Amino acid sequence: MDLHPFRQRSFKQRASLSGIGLHSGAQVRVTIAPAPADTGIVFVRDGSEIPALADFVVDTTMNTSVGRDGIRIGTVEHLLAALAGCGIDNAYLEVEGPEVPIMDGSSEPFVALIREAGIHELRQSRRFLLVRKAVTVTEGDKLARLSPARGKLSINYTIDFRHPLISDQSFRVDMSERSFSKDIARARTFGFKRDVERLHKAGLARGGSLDNAVVVDDFNILNPEGLRFPDEFVRHKILDALGDLSLIGMPVIGHMTAVKSGHALNHQLVRRVLAEGEACEVVQPSAADELHEIQERLLPVLALEEQVA
Ligand SMILES: [Zn+2]
Repeated sequence: MDLHPFRQRSFKQRASLSGIGLHSGAQVRVTIAPAPADTGIVFVRDGSEIPALADFVVDTTMNTSVGRDGIRIGTVEHLLAALAGCGIDNAYLEVEGPEVPIMDGSSEPFVALIREAGIHELRQSRRFLLVRKAVTVTEGDKLARLSPARGKLSINYTIDFRHPLISDQSFRVDMSERSFSKDIARARTFGFKRDVERLHKAGLARGGSLDNAVVVDDFNILNPEGLRFPDEFVRHKILDALGDLSLIGMPVIGHMTAVKSGHALNHQLVRRVLAEGEACEVVQPSAADELHEIQERLLPVLALEEQVA
């Protein structure tokens, strides 16, 4: 599959999958469908359209939910990460039920769904958000930052849970379709046994099980199959961050640094970047040398040094 890196993408045809909803426990179904150039990613539920943009995020506590006029769709992050990871610019995501199915807790089933639908290249050039100035948000010892960088998106993530299996993991990825599907897409969501019990008592995470999450108790991984990567936890956090960044509405050219961040802080970063006019610029190069020229012109040497520091 030889795709043009600067042209917009959608699908050749529709494709669906069904599964359990993590929070509702209900059987839910999602269909991905082709959309014309410049549509962006748009959720559809009961005939209402909800663009997958930061302005439509209504909840980031347990998962990411989008909503509009009282209609909500939950657990959107792993599907959005798969679309961003595969470089899909335009799609309708028709959801039947209150949330996107959790599947195995990773993005891999959605990557398979995208392959089933087939990637269709459109003639129009893709728009990118070029980060021109570092923007940082913090909360206690948590940090999320976007800074200027050459080329495309890279993410460096560090987590440090007070747990022997999940203390001080770091991972860096230079995002491409290949690195996403090889290193990130298969990483599953995770949780702690004590939280699962608490959530179940509160009527939440009703669909949660060892089939759709890595669950750890104080010392062990409870899933009989073990981990898919020794550092699966931090890789999943990168998957989540990619889904969160996708709510900018276009691929980002820049470097993200995250320390102990999560959906809420990632969303704060997205909103800050979009609100600070001079922090970023929308560019629409049609080839690599054109992007290079744009970067030479727009990225001050100082800004790039900031990233190295
Ligand atoms: Zn996740």
